[in-house]
Amino acid sequence: MDQNSERYLVSSALPYANGPLHVGQIVGAYLPADAFVRYLRMRGEDVVYVCGTDEHGVPITLTAEREGKDPKEVVDYWWSHMKETFERFGISFDNFSRTSTPLHAKNTQLFYRKLKECGYISEAESKQMYSPTEGRFLPDRYVEGTCPVCGYKEARGDQCDNCGSWYEAYELIEPHSKVTGGPAEVRETTHLYLDLPKFSDRLRAYVAGQEHWRTSVKNFILGIIDGGLEKRPITRDIQWGVPVPEPGFEDKRFYVWFDACIGYISSTMEWAENVGEPDRWREYWQEPETRLIHFIGKDNTVFHALVWPALLMGTGEDGEEPYALPYDVPANEFMNLEVVVDGERRAMQMSTSRNLAVWLHEALDRFPADPLRFYLASNLPETGDVVFSWREFQGRVNSDLIGNLGNYINRVLSFTEKYADGQASRPEELPESGLAVLEDFKELERRYEERMLAPKPREALGELLAMGRRANRFFDASAPWKTRKEDPERTRLTLYVCSVLLGSLAYHAAPYVPEAVERLQGFFTGPILRVSDLEKLPEGYRVTGAKPLFQRIEDEEVAAVEEQLSRAVRG
Ligand SMILES: [Zn+2]
Repeated sequence: MDQNSERYLVSSALPYANGPLHVGQIVGAYLPADAFVRYLRMRGEDVVYVCGTDEHGVPITLTAEREGKDPKEVVDYWWSHMKETFERFGISFDNFSRTSTPLHAKNTQLFYRKLKECGYISEAESKQMYSPTEGRFLPDRYVEGTCPVCGYKEARGDQCDNCGSWYEAYELIEPHSKVTGGPAEVRETTHLYLDLPKFSDRLRAYVAGQEHWRTSVKNFILGIIDGGLEKRPITRDIQWGVPVPEPGFEDKRFYVWFDACIGYISSTMEWAENVGEPDRWREYWQEPETRLIHFIGKDNTVFHALVWPALLMGTGEDGEEPYALPYDVPANEFMNLEVVVDGERRAMQMSTSRNLAVWLHEALDRFPADPLRFYLASNLPETGDVVFSWREFQGRVNSDLIGNLGNYINRVLSFTEKYADGQASRPEELPESGLAVLEDFKELERRYEERMLAPKPREALGELLAMGRRANRFFDASAPWKTRKEDPERTRLTLYVCSVLLGSLAYHAAPYVPEAVERLQGFFTGPILRVSDLEKLPEGYRVTGAKPLFQRIEDEEVAAVEEQLSRAVRG
């Protein structure tokens, strides 16, 4: 890496290994991170991009019990399923780990010991629901009852899906086990707690100082700190998870929120091990100039922007291993689904239990990754909730990806191949219109970069489309189909400038449609570079055997996937 490059550690939220990935997750934490990372790599920055599956916690044990399997079976299956789906979709992790590894257990226990040494852990009794018939404590999600606030009958143990209230499971009216339906009662149990209030002042100063954070994220967290932090239990009565290294806690495990974020460090260590430099993870976690960026869905904000920085502060306090704190926590909003119900188009909330979702692996069975990536990137929930619509997918792919970018690329390539022997070489001098379009491109590239680094890849995609329109306009105004007979020299100039623009378009399109840009390089030879980075204009470009990069999305294809969603609603 060159001396001037910045160092980045980028993570995407760890998905629970208990089911397939859907597009709502993809636009929250994966595609925006991947586009961002791909751009950083092209800029020559030093970046490591990690993720892995979250294999602990109640979502996993609930799935296992429902399916009559061992939790291990469940997570093994979904770990490989997710890994493969991410690969098919072109998510370019440097490492995709999992939280059930021995290394991760060791890291979690080390975090715990350091926090304890520094006085951030205490023990307390609490009330927990217990099932006398099952002979065990019931985690919140195993409990159901009537909401104490609104009276909704199927309220979950920690939150009501009807009115959104949060409460303790023992506050439910007529609580019962979700597994057996039998009654649940309150019992006392001992747990370990993280003393979050001790971090209040440091957290407030840290969050308040983050000028570049999204305002929504920053204000949300400051509001929570000002409302007063409470101690948080870090252990629970469950058998599946990282063991607690304390006598008397043999039957308990760490809470999944406690170990999940540590998974980013474990994944980076695994990466360092794999590249043969086992200590290199420290550069990304323990050197203050590293930019640590966690891409998440907004439901994960509290853990990443508040609890996780506290864990890093507390663990680094012994002076041996100070940790860098997150530089940014880009949290994305939610994605709803457009479904056709009785001939009407309606936006509905995804529901994985009703199979009302667009599963990524199924979408990839029908469409290549690039058009899906392009549409989803154009519809990222960066500033508010969005709606996934198959009809809009077709529209954006056919008009923007193909009608704008693809059209430009095809015209330049086929013209160069047909009428200029596939050659576009540097002329002595460029026409004024050529110089003007190159200048315009530099400005568009600057705008793109500013948005991409924000990181707001959806807004950056808007600038890419503006580049496409500008390039098409230049092609139209230069009218090479007219000049090729009367003024071949002029045509050569046009095609040369068009190729320079094409190199820039490909450069900026690569974070979104990486596979197409790779294919393009098979028949378009010449620098794929920003106009702003060209020290001098390249000598020339060659085109041989060009083919269209994208295929139109047909009405029948859309009708078929829309019908699938309608069926899920009809039930
Ligand atoms: Zn309620």
